[in-house]
Amino acid sequence: MVSFEEARRLVELHAEAVRPAEPDTADLLAASGRVLAEVIVADRDFPPFDRATRDGYAVRAADLAAVPVLLEVVGEVKAGDWPEPEASSVAHGQAIGIMTGAPLPAGADAVVMVEHTSFADQSVEVQPGEAQSVEVQRSVEAGENLVSRGAEARAGQLLLDRGRRLDHAGIAIAAAVGKSRVRVFQKPRVAVLSTGDEVVEIEARPGPAQIRNSNSFSLAAQVQNAGGEAVRLAIAPDERGRLRELIEEGLDCDLLLLTGGVSMGKYDLVEQVLGELKAEFYFTGAEIQPGRPVMFGSCDADTLVRSDGRSAAGARTGVSAPRKKYFFGLPGNPVSTMVTFELFARPMIEALGGQTAQRLIFLRARLKSEIRTKTGLKRFLPAVLSGEFENAEVELARWQGSGDVAALARANCYVVIPADRERIEAGEWVPLLMR
Ligand code: AMP
Ligand code: MG
Repeated sequence: MVSFEEARRLVELHAEAVRPAEPDTADLLAASGRVLAEVIVADRDFPPFDRATRDGYAVRAADLAAVPVLLEVVGEVKAGDWPEPEASSVAHGQAIGIMTGAPLPAGADAVVMVEHTSFADQSVEVQPGEAQSVEVQRSVEAGENLVSRGAEARAGQLLLDRGRRLDHAGIAIAAAVGKSRVRVFQKPRVAVLSTGDEVVEIEARPGPAQIRNSNSFSLAAQVQNAGGEAVRLAIAPDERGRLRELIEEGLDCDLLLLTGGVSMGKYDLVEQVLGELKAEFYFTGAEIQPGRPVMFGSCDADTLVRSDGRSAAGARTGVSAPRKKYFFGLPGNPVSTMVTFELFARPMIEALGGQTAQRLIFLRARLKSEIRTKTGLKRFLPAVLSGEFENAEVELARWQGSGDVAALARANCYVVIPADRERIEAGEWVPLLMR
């Protein structure tokens, strides 16, 4: 049994050493949610020219030292126009109408907002730039209301690193530099193996003592969410021979997730069967609730000769498979399965998918009503985060323990309770694990 922090550290340590899948090429939009296998650099300066950030007039700041002042309007630049210096430039006492996103004409060093200008003749409606002269009521500093060429990024500068998972912001950056296709890592294949004599497929009508295999689906969804491809295996009964066959099948994938059969019961056979397969265990049990019996280990793919005579060496096409095949034995209770996936399995999937390591960060919110609990385990209890804007507050969801799937419908996060706390008062800031 290890502490939560030690268990997490062990997973991160192993995750750091795994080799990611091979790269693939994808159309940009299809790469949303995928992990970059190349760096994205600025293909030119950003912005590529001194860019106006306001509608108004391009001016020489020195001309506006004393205001109000009358300037001669000598032209107009719209977004998309390129002001050739011979044709449009701002000399002393002059201004050029300019629109947001347009390049600053030569001679000008600032933009004055249209709101701070007016025309001498108020009776005619004149568009900015059309007037012969404009009165400016406010001074500006050189550089005001514009972004200088290259201020956001210089040509060749790194914008997105390899190992970055592409969200909409990443997609925007790739699009801005003209990458219509990007190199991304192949998704790791993650086997999901449910165990238990009482567990039946969800299409089946369950007998009076049977339970539908919901874990297989929740885990597959979490695997996808973490950037993996889930491979749902058949349900393993609490019987050694068949369980071993299915574990061996699962070890063909890049990672194996088992649920159920990891506690101390007479029919909890997962550890035993993995032991027969010469597994190395990094931890069997963590001081957490829910999820205490969680286990993490690996099998040596080279020495693993399956009962059907095949070697479990290669899952990835065309690559010599990594020596270690990692597995997690997650407890069968649905809430335990979900929590232990997020805490331990996710970082391994992310690493196998080529993603740079993500630190686990707990957010904080104010506790709505007091919590009383026992010391000794770090707890991750289903909770409801509610409120609005700056007034978020959190309270525990009503639940019947870690088997309570229905409680998950009421919860949207977990409150994290340190192992040494017996009582947490309403109003205290508590850490949260978001779901
Ligand atoms: P176990 O970890 O095998 O002792 O199972 C703990 C609890 O989780 C038992 O009440 C099981 O019926 C339930 N359980 C186990 N596997 C699943 C599954 N695949 N889907 C839903 N519930 C499960
Ligand atoms: Mg079981």
